[in-house]
Amino acid sequence: MADIIQLLPDHVANQIAAGEVVQRPASVVKELLENAIDAGSTHIQLIVKEAGKTLVQVVDDGKGMSETDARLSFSRHATSKIRSAEDLFRLDTKGFRGEALASIAAIAHVEMNTSDNDDMIGTSIRIEGGKLISQEATACARGTSMLVKNLFFNIPARRNFLKSNAVELRHIIDEFQRVALAHPDIAFDLFNNGNELFKLPAANIRQRIVHIFGNKTNERLVPVQEETEVVAISGFVLKPEYAKKTRGEQFFFVNNRFIKSPYLHHAIGAAFEGLIKEQNHPGYFIFLDVDPGSIDINIHPTKTEIKFDDEHTIYAIIRSAVKHSLGQFNVAPILDFDR
Ligand code: ADP
Ligand code: MG
Repeated sequence: MADIIQLLPDHVANQIAAGEVVQRPASVVKELLENAIDAGSTHIQLIVKEAGKTLVQVVDDGKGMSETDARLSFSRHATSKIRSAEDLFRLDTKGFRGEALASIAAIAHVEMNTSDNDDMIGTSIRIEGGKLISQEATACARGTSMLVKNLFFNIPARRNFLKSNAVELRHIIDEFQRVALAHPDIAFDLFNNGNELFKLPAANIRQRIVHIFGNKTNERLVPVQEETEVVAISGFVLKPEYAKKTRGEQFFFVNNRFIKSPYLHHAIGAAFEGLIKEQNHPGYFIFLDVDPGSIDINIHPTKTEIKFDDEHTIYAIIRSAVKHSLGQFNVAPILDFDR
């Protein structure tokens, strides 16, 4: 019998990978914001049109890319962030898979302008459906602007599957807020159809929460702080009386990465036991710092789930830290805006 196995061409492999990484415009937002953070930016602008269906643009003032790197960044498994498998256990970047730009470029019209110097010398690249259309010199300031237009233009089934603009914008705002909360020291702006939705100056975490969720949030925050050998915990829970029927503000960050963890969520619930009605959900902004060697982030392409070496211990520490804070707040009301 003749041999029948063939290697898929790159653009097909990229389109398949894109199916996992890019579910909706908000996925593009997450990947581009994370790249801007990894580039060491101090100010990041997110500009979307029609809830990202026609345009997602991220402009940063980070370190930018050289002409060659700019081209290479769109190749699959092209990354400047890790060099070996061991690096996965000492990660200090959001990215490491080297897949996002290749995936996005496979299913959209992409234009990138980037410069790695202060001489206004940069490069401009256009890629459509994974095909390089052009690359030319351009004048631009240090940093990178990534424009992603017409997402899923070549995958009509995906395009048709997108929800209303209101729903897709909600997903974008969710991603934006998660990233902005994880990095209060970076300034972020969000525009949709020319309207400014958020303008967040560099701040501390309390101020960032208040800038996003409003002034009234300030007096509702109860600080949580605990440091052990396994984990350092910081952040806030909302006072029990602000627990809601609908799931409101519930944020877990591990090493400055937003994660979803039903198990750790349960630990907070356990700490609130007896203080809120059973059907209500507590609000929280909890930051965990752990040794990067004690977690595995590479469970899912979107990296919102992680595996801890010692989940049970972390559960117990969170529960007791939150319980302790809740026990204290009645005695000493928290009004300090500077922490
Ligand atoms: P990853 O982030 O996993 O490395 P990406 O496909 O998202 O993979 O990006 C590929 C590479 O392109 C990055 O490793 C980085 O070197 C470069 N890059 C992407 N976005 C930016 C940016 N905004 N500024 C500077 N370099 C960038
Ligand atoms: Mg990336």
